[in-house]
Amino acid sequence: MTRRIVVIGGGVGGLSAAYYARKANPEATITVLEASAEFGGVTKTRRPDGLVLEEGPDSIIRIKPAGLQLLTDLGLDQHIQATQPQARQSFIVRAGRLVPVPEGLYLMAPGRWWPFLWTRLVSWSGKIRMGLDLLIPRRRADAPEESLAAFVRRRLGREALERIAQPMVGGIYTADPERLSLQATMPQFVEMEREHRSLLLAMRRRAKAMAKAPGGGGGTSGPRYGLFMSLPGGLGDLVAALQTALSDCDLRTEASVRGLVRVGDQWQVQLDAGEVAADEVVLALPAHAAAPVVRSADSELAELLQTIPYAGVATVNLVYPADAVERLPDGAGFVVPSVEHRAILACTNVTCKYPGRAPEGTVILRAFVGGGLHEVDLEADDEQMVARCVAELRDLVGLRGEPQRVHVARWPRAMAQHVLGHEERLAAIRARERALTGLHLVGNGYEGVGIPDIVAQGKAIWA
Ligand SMILES: Cc1cc2nc3c(=O)[nH]c(=O)nc-3n(C[C@H](O)[C@H](O)[C@H](O)COP(=O)(O)OP(=O)(O)OC[C@H]3O[C@@H](n4cnc5c(N)ncnc54)[C@H](O)[C@@H]3O)c2cc1C
Repeated sequence: MTRRIVVIGGGVGGLSAAYYARKANPEATITVLEASAEFGGVTKTRRPDGLVLEEGPDSIIRIKPAGLQLLTDLGLDQHIQATQPQARQSFIVRAGRLVPVPEGLYLMAPGRWWPFLWTRLVSWSGKIRMGLDLLIPRRRADAPEESLAAFVRRRLGREALERIAQPMVGGIYTADPERLSLQATMPQFVEMEREHRSLLLAMRRRAKAMAKAPGGGGGTSGPRYGLFMSLPGGLGDLVAALQTALSDCDLRTEASVRGLVRVGDQWQVQLDAGEVAADEVVLALPAHAAAPVVRSADSELAELLQTIPYAGVATVNLVYPADAVERLPDGAGFVVPSVEHRAILACTNVTCKYPGRAPEGTVILRAFVGGGLHEVDLEADDEQMVARCVAELRDLVGLRGEPQRVHVARWPRAMAQHVLGHEERLAAIRARERALTGLHLVGNGYEGVGIPDIVAQGKAIWA
């Protein structure tokens, strides 16, 4: 009998899981059920008047292979848009000014000491405290799990946490570093301490090894930039390409799934209207959205899924004439430490990062608001949020006048927070999933939050 595969959730996670399902099962019937009116989930590009405005993700990291592989499999590798060379530089705000991220800095620690010594990002006393890392002993192997904040404070000191690690890692997870699990989010740093004891020594060895590697390993000054890629029309083109590749599948929008029931050796997928039978079901949803769907099949799994916290975030695209921006240095953008007490968490200089996204003489700035530490800022209505972003950008980069266009996108409960205990919770979730034959969970609540992490999960199902 023909195998029936049903994918629930039409974001990049669900569509790519369906794409690899089709490659592995040419004969299967494949259905994708998406609750909203369009595919893509948080991956949405709007293109008004020759602009390319990203509402959600704007980049795919190169070093995690599943993202690049998906683009290649879809035949999009010829069209990959790299970040512009000047976008290798990024900035961190200190005392209301944009300070360049010193060359070699990687997420929280410098790989090159000389450029770091002269940065205004951290005070001299802060640098001396960071230098003590060279003497601090290794943590005991049997010590309990540590938060990102506790780890950085212990090894590099409070200033390195507040001025570097919080905004840099915040840019990825939009999370409170006191709650984030270091092991679940940045295991490479746990490994560095285990192997090299000192982070500074480990980072220097890493930088040297990267410099010797083919391509020189450049562009390590910004965590979100330099190593990133997109498509000329934005990541909405990836969603469109996936939909085209799935043209022989049953792709349904406005098909919200309420629950799953095991009947004999198959699943009944219950929709608001009707039901669909399946041999394999992929739940490609945020964990909190997967919970009610699996509840009738396994209430304990539903409880576990509910415990994964999510934060909301908003993106505010602002379009200005280029001559209205007085002090915006070339670069991919900047991140704002929480101790600066501003609403903007980070801001992308879109026009500098990716060419061709705005007509000549026009710039696009994209601000992020909200996240785990500042969810209260999302209570503002669109007008208030835009006004606050404009006021802060006026101060930070010398904007003049009002924007020509604004575009706000809100993503409530979209950013998974891999908090302390995540790995244990994840192991319990995966164990229960294995016990439910033919059920698969894909999403940012599990292993990693980026597009390549989620694509890798959906692909692994069919390996
Ligand atoms: C603002 C923002 C910026 C980001 N930037 C980046 C970046 O630059 N690079 C990067 O790699 N990652 C980035 N991320 C993270 C990454 O985009 C997401 O983790 C990833 O896209 C999630 O994909 P998904 O398919 O798992 O989930 P989603 O995109 O959330 O899709 C889930 C889909 O399921 C649907 N759905 C929900 N419930 C049901 C139901 N009951 N029945 C049917 N359908 C349902 C939803 O409508 C939605 O379309 C960003 C995230 C955000 C929010």
